[in-house]
Amino acid sequence: MTMQSLTVLGATGSIGVNTLDVVARHPEKFRVIALSGQNQIEKLAQQCRQFHPRYAVVLDAAKAQALQALLAGTDTEVLVGMEALEFVASLPEVDSVMAAIVGAAGLRPALAAARTGKRVLLANKETLVMAGQFFMQAVRDHNATLLPIDSEHNAIFQSMPAAYFQRNNNGDLKAHGVRRILLTASGGPFRTRELDTLKDITPEQAIAHPNWVMGKKISVDSATMMNKGLEVIEARWLFNARPEQIEVVIHPQSIVHSMVEYLDGSVLAQLSNPDMRTPIAHSLAYPERIEAGVNWLDLAKIGTLTFEAPDLRRFPCLGLAYQALAAGGAAPAILNAANEEVVAAFLDRRIPYLAIAETLDAVLQRLAGQPVESLEDLMTADAAARATAQQLITASSV
Ligand code: NAD
Ligand code: MG
Repeated sequence: MTMQSLTVLGATGSIGVNTLDVVARHPEKFRVIALSGQNQIEKLAQQCRQFHPRYAVVLDAAKAQALQALLAGTDTEVLVGMEALEFVASLPEVDSVMAAIVGAAGLRPALAAARTGKRVLLANKETLVMAGQFFMQAVRDHNATLLPIDSEHNAIFQSMPAAYFQRNNNGDLKAHGVRRILLTASGGPFRTRELDTLKDITPEQAIAHPNWVMGKKISVDSATMMNKGLEVIEARWLFNARPEQIEVVIHPQSIVHSMVEYLDGSVLAQLSNPDMRTPIAHSLAYPERIEAGVNWLDLAKIGTLTFEAPDLRRFPCLGLAYQALAAGGAAPAILNAANEEVVAAFLDRRIPYLAIAETLDAVLQRLAGQPVESLEDLMTADAAARATAQQLITASSV
């Protein structure tokens, strides 16, 4: 493969670090043009010293000053703010953009990458949950290449007919022989916990995922299974699937990362150890393959792979996500924004675990249903959802 120039947004996070780990294994294949980070300035500086990017982006002036001091004497230029994130995502010399910021903050730079026709390596699922229709339209209009990093969607991408992703395909799953997408979920740390003890769950218990080491927000989302709910919405847009064509299956070992069922009864799956460097390396090198540094899968050692249906009483957030998807319009963006607020409140110990789903349900009942005509409408819905969630959080604070 020819040398690829890369921007990594959210370089200091879990996905960002794994991306740079794969990149470091192939210095002849990848050149880093820009890195971004929010709080871990020392770590960002260390990454800059290792990868020599042209630009490093942070969000405020104080962090910029601190980073500049750490990078004195290097060639890396420090830029500040959302516009700078959009700038480094759309630079003409950049081929690929790893979109690995967490939350709604990742939307604008991911859109900037799509609108400039980049290869977009999309980890930030919130982009598709909030603005799936607009984002997919931007990808089509500007001939961008969209490669999913989320392990399930990467597995689906690998298990789908290649023709499905060629330009001008009609996006009709059935016409390509596909009956359903089977989205696997680990079930998180509370899959078998006694239902009447869910009320006592602490942030420490919620972020201790049995199979994956991830950022805090997605770890809590995995515990509530909101993560799977967001992934159902993500799959809806990535693969033009109707909600009834997406089924969630619990698979506690996290070895089968998702499956595609065909009309003839065949089910194709992608398997690997739970290590994000596999989907990252797949997308970095696509359509070629490169080594990712992961352990080889030893199925005889694993022995047993099990599957079960999700229990919506245990995981009401999954039901809420299907509800928001069915409601359409601004509902998924409302759910996503309210979820960011309640997860932050839970991590701050301002609300108990069970209030996460209860608050989201209440926000959806109050706000869902507005039609959406523009990105502005989505931003308005996002702000209203955060304000309503904050009111409810304050009212129910522990
Ligand atoms: P993380 O919290 O470890 O890292 C987030 C990154 O975004 C950091 O670099 C941080 O500095 C930056 N950031 C945070 N807030 C920001 C803001 N307001 N503006 C700009 N930058 C900001 O998160 P993560 O686990 O790496 O997840 C990143 C994205 O990838 C999320 O959307 C998540 O859902 C998705 N994802 C992660 C995993 C995983 O294994 N970690 C798997 C699938 C999908
Ligand atoms: Mg996932």
